[in-house]
Amino acid sequence: MNFEDFNISSQIKDAIGQMGFTKPTPIQEKAIPQALKGMDITAQAQTGSGKTIAFAIPVLEKIFIPDKSPQAIILCPTRELCMQVADEINKVGSKIKKLKVLAVYGGQPIGKQTRVLKKGVHIVVGTPGRVIDHIERENLDLIGVESVVLDEADEMLEMGFREDIEEILSNTPNQRQTLLFSATIPSEIREIAKKYQKSPKFIKISSNRKNAPKITQYYYKCDINDKFDSLTRLIMAYDVKLILIFCNTKKSVDFVKKHLKKQEFNVDALHGDMTQKARDKVMNKFRNGNINILVATDVAARGLDIDGVDVVINYDVAQNADDYTHRIGRTARAGKTGYALSLVSADEVSRFNNIKKSNNISQKQIPTLLEINELKSLLILNDVKKSKDNLDEYVKIIEKSENKNFSSTELAAGLLKRIMEN
Ligand code: AMP
Repeated sequence: MNFEDFNISSQIKDAIGQMGFTKPTPIQEKAIPQALKGMDITAQAQTGSGKTIAFAIPVLEKIFIPDKSPQAIILCPTRELCMQVADEINKVGSKIKKLKVLAVYGGQPIGKQTRVLKKGVHIVVGTPGRVIDHIERENLDLIGVESVVLDEADEMLEMGFREDIEEILSNTPNQRQTLLFSATIPSEIREIAKKYQKSPKFIKISSNRKNAPKITQYYYKCDINDKFDSLTRLIMAYDVKLILIFCNTKKSVDFVKKHLKKQEFNVDALHGDMTQKARDKVMNKFRNGNINILVATDVAARGLDIDGVDVVINYDVAQNADDYTHRIGRTARAGKTGYALSLVSADEVSRFNNIKKSNNISQKQIPTLLEINELKSLLILNDVKKSKDNLDEYVKIIEKSENKNFSSTELAAGLLKRIMEN
């Protein structure tokens, strides 16, 4: 199946083509036709599954441009996610003339958002708290809303937004369409679905589908006193671009950040107590590659969408299987592959065993320094083998310096040693 097969406008098909997508992901294939029919949907789908476009298309199809009052409201748990979702909707709607999408979230002056709302927008993407704020100030009237999307619903509930969400839903017309997306479906989500949706279609994307994120999961048993040393070895062994390290507490985040810094790793941290400005600064550094290691708590990492995280390391074992799922979902986005590594000390074994029941995680040994060296040397040699061109000049120099006491093998070994020690 591809996007051409959907019963959608040519403007949207064009825009999707321009975004470089031809085949819908499994969640898109299942959700879009049902949503286009007007059905309510409860979909269990991870970030990275393509869920944003799965709701963006049906929402956009219903927008009537001449009416400049909000016709769709999309609720997201965090400011970051609001911005990403608004951005993605703008891309899918790039060929729809005069479409207005606004992201509203806390941390940004309310006046600016108010002015845009008063001018008229078709789609509002917001965090529940800020949306309520605008409703109470009478900046936002939901009377004309036809579609409501609850994105990352489980995260919103966990962050204590349940009352706000219910209030927002009760401010929208009864005949609305309600689309709910959530990585996990705990009982609270079922309650919300039952209360606010009309015979919803339940869609689940099983994780063994071809397009499922390809995450290789390993765990390493280690002594609590060697945990930090084990962490640095994993970082060295998985010599990659972007690493996200999860800790359970702010104290643990601070400890890991401080000690990695001491060892001159390019690292920074995110935790719940930081101001929005400080968070944005760290996130930008990570996105731009100015730092390649980010240490975070679960709350601080909510809603983060950073492409290209190669490895997620659980320095502390996650509190439960749902948190684990959210953490590892930060890697292997958009069809890429990734690693999820967990360090497990004796006091965490029983919690980890619970997580292991629902995940395919194999045990590995922390690599020794010798093994790390060997691995890195092989990577360098592989790189060297790839660049055989333009070596003539250097071959001459090597040939000149070759003699009985020093073979070219030894010369190559000496060069490798120098690179490794640098
Ligand atoms: P999401 O689950 O919405 O956060 O999407 C994850 C990523 O997949 C985003 O970077 C999307 O742009 C990308 N994506 C969405 N739909 C497709 C598709 N049909 N083919 C390839 N990539 C897609």
